[in-house]
Amino acid sequence: MPETVNQWNPIMGTYQRYPLTLVKGKGSYVWDDKGKKYLDFTSGIATCNLGHVPDAVKKAVASQLEDLWHCSNLYDIPAQQKLAGKIVEHSFGDQVFFCNSGAEANEGAIKLARRYAQKVKGTNAFEIVTFQKSFHGRTLATLSATGQAKIQDGFSPLVGGFRYLPYNDFEALEHLVHSETCAVLLELVQGEGGVVSADYEWLINLSDLCKEKEILFMVDEVQTGIGRTGKLFAYENYGVEPDVMTIAKGLGSGIPIGALVAKGHVAAAFEAGTHGSTFGGNPIASTAGFETLNYLLTKGVLEAAKGLGEYLGQRLWDLLRRFPKQIKEVRGLGLLRGLYINGEAKDIITKARGKQVLLLPAGPDVVRILPPLTATVQEVDVLIGVLEEILAEGVELQ
Ligand SMILES: *Cc1c(COP(=O)(O)O)cnc(C)c1O
Repeated sequence: MPETVNQWNPIMGTYQRYPLTLVKGKGSYVWDDKGKKYLDFTSGIATCNLGHVPDAVKKAVASQLEDLWHCSNLYDIPAQQKLAGKIVEHSFGDQVFFCNSGAEANEGAIKLARRYAQKVKGTNAFEIVTFQKSFHGRTLATLSATGQAKIQDGFSPLVGGFRYLPYNDFEALEHLVHSETCAVLLELVQGEGGVVSADYEWLINLSDLCKEKEILFMVDEVQTGIGRTGKLFAYENYGVEPDVMTIAKGLGSGIPIGALVAKGHVAAAFEAGTHGSTFGGNPIASTAGFETLNYLLTKGVLEAAKGLGEYLGQRLWDLLRRFPKQIKEVRGLGLLRGLYINGEAKDIITKARGKQVLLLPAGPDVVRILPPLTATVQEVDVLIGVLEEILAEGVELQ
């Protein structure tokens, strides 16, 4: 232990944390340890999509807590069956594997793509094409899949078998498939990489190429899924159909759960004993997932989120028109929005926190806005008012 014991933090320093301790949440709001209330437009990084502590999910989880917490995947888990059924009913997928996080879901997708190529198709293909500025997680394979040097720094040797192409680049599609390529993995809106959405034409071309060349089209919907972009899954905005999808963040309303979703012939590559997780989709997490999806789909949340996403976009466009020197671009889809700033995102985020609105960065110069899907027009107006004040007071231009 260092001598300055009082300053010693027993938590590893992997996060640079904001000077704020949150102890309570409800709906779009959180409270700090001094009782101060904040409008939370981070949603715990696109996770609390129904707002904080949603009653329907709380009730179902509390009831499950009475009965069984955990039994392992050596037994059938009814809540897991229900959740998988719901996901399959509302997506392209036929089968689901449950895990505990986004990285783990992507790890599963990487394994599935390789195994499908090697065991079902009987080829030697292994390479997965990903994109520059992507983000797929922090495990060794998923950080290797991530097209950002800063995420990979100091962790060599990386897991091999990934090739990174520029995103939204038509020319790059000419180099998409080599003889050893088995899949493409991408985000439809690059969340951590600056809230950049896939160009419509480009994505259609990419999806068509995957079909033509018979490689898997895999979408990382860890951030874009569960209604975040105004559709249940972001691929629906583009009218394309993936072979594999990963989800996590919004699925459990904050109870940790991830899922790998695939078409049946692809999922068939995962026979008994090929992949697993002790906790994955346990009764509590699966119950949270099922109730989250059920509430989203039956209580009009998805429709409201679509409308609110359009409203938020309009209001941000208005800001861009009023402050063209400070704002370079409005980015994103639905309730996953980015303000590309001519300055430091951090500066605006700090000032917004001072005005009791929580926001996130996406890289050095993009302010990321992630309201809960249940937020109101009035709450969006509060955000816009606060941003107006900050921009009018003046941000340091680059
Ligand atoms: C957050 C995120 C991940 C990683 O999810 P974890 O639950 O943190 O492991 C992967 N992909 C995308 C697109 C994400 O936004």
